[in-house]
Amino acid sequence: HAKNEGRDNCQFYNVDLTFQAEKRMHLENDLRNALQQNEFYLVYQPQLDVAEENFQSVEALIRWQHPKQGLISPLDFIPLAEENGLIIPIGDWVLRTACTEAAQWHQRGRPLQVAVNLSPLQIKNPDFVKNVLDILAETGFPPGKLVLEITEGALMEHSENILATLLALREHHIQIALDDFGTGYSSMNYLKRLPINNIKVDQSFVRGLLDKKENLAIVRAIISLSKNLGFSITAEGIESLNQAQVLKYFGCETLQGYYFSKPITMQEMLALTDKQWRIEPLRPNGVNHES
Ligand code: C2E
Ligand code: MG
Ligand code: MG
Ligand code: MG
Repeated sequence: HAKNEGRDNCQFYNVDLTFQAEKRMHLENDLRNALQQNEFYLVYQPQLDVAEENFQSVEALIRWQHPKQGLISPLDFIPLAEENGLIIPIGDWVLRTACTEAAQWHQRGRPLQVAVNLSPLQIKNPDFVKNVLDILAETGFPPGKLVLEITEGALMEHSENILATLLALREHHIQIALDDFGTGYSSMNYLKRLPINNIKVDQSFVRGLLDKKENLAIVRAIISLSKNLGFSITAEGIESLNQAQVLKYFGCETLQGYYFSKPITMQEMLALTDKQWRIEPLRPNGVNHES
C-alpha cells in the first residue's frame, strides 16, 4: 500500500515539475518582449534621513506588469534575466528611467538622492562605467546624487575587476551602497579597503530586532563598526515605530521600510517629500547606555 502511495506522489511531483518548467519557459519568452512592450515600471521607496527628519533619498525598485499574469515580483524575474543576459538591457532601462524621473524631482525643487540596484553581471560588464556616465549626461542627473546598490555576493565573486570599476565610479562622485549586509561572508576588514560609502543592514536583522538579544547585538555592532570605518549606515525593512526608535538610539543614520512607506509611484513620492518625521530614540531593555 505504502509503495503505491509513494509512486502516486512521485508521478504527481513529475507532472508538477513539467508544469513549472513550462511556466518558466513562457515567462522567459515574455521577458524578452517586456522591454519593447513597456511592461516595466519603477516604484520608489523613501528613505528617512534621521538627522533631517525627512526623506532625502529613495530606492528605485523595478516592477513587471505582465499582460496576463498581472504584477510579477523582481524576486521572480531578475534571476531569470540574469541567466539569459537580459539583465543588461533591463538594468540600463532601470538606470535611465530612475535618472530621468529623479531629474524631474530636482527640477521641481526636490533634490532627492536616488539608489538603483545592480546585478553583479552589470558591474562585470566592461562598458558599465561608460554606460552610467552616458545615462547621467543624457538625463542631466547629477552624479553625486546617484547611489548604486551592490550585494556582498557581487563583491566576493568578482573582486579584482570590480575594484577598478568602483574606483572609477567614485572618481565621478557616484556613491556605492552595500545591500543586504550581513547575509554574505565579507568581513569588515575586507570592506574597509573598498571605495564604499554606505552599508545597508539586511532586513532579516531588523525583522527580529526586538525579539532576540542576538539581533540587537549584531545590529548595534554593525552600526558602530560601519561608522568607525567611515561608512554611512542604512537599515531596511523597518515595520514598526519601536524598531525605528531603537535604530536611532544605536546611531543609524537612514531608515527605510513599510513603517514609513511602501514603494510608491513617482507622483505619490512627491506628496511625501514635505512630511516631517520625529523619531524619539529608545534604549531597548537590557542594553547599556552608550559609553
Ligand atoms: P532589495 O534591494 O533589498 O530591496 C528591498 C526589498 O524589500 C524590496 O522588495 C522592498 O519592497 C522590500 N521592503 C522594503 N521595506 C520593507 C518592509 O518594511 N518589510 C518587508 N517585508 N519588505 C520591505 P522588492 O521591490 O520586491 O525587491 C526585491 C529585490 O529584488 C530587491 O531587494 C533587489 O535585490 C531586487 N530588485 C528590485 N529592483 C531591482 C532592479 O531594478 N534591478 C536589480 N538588479 N534588482 C532589483
Ligand atoms: Mg536594494
Ligand atoms: Mg536589501
Ligand atoms: Mg536584495
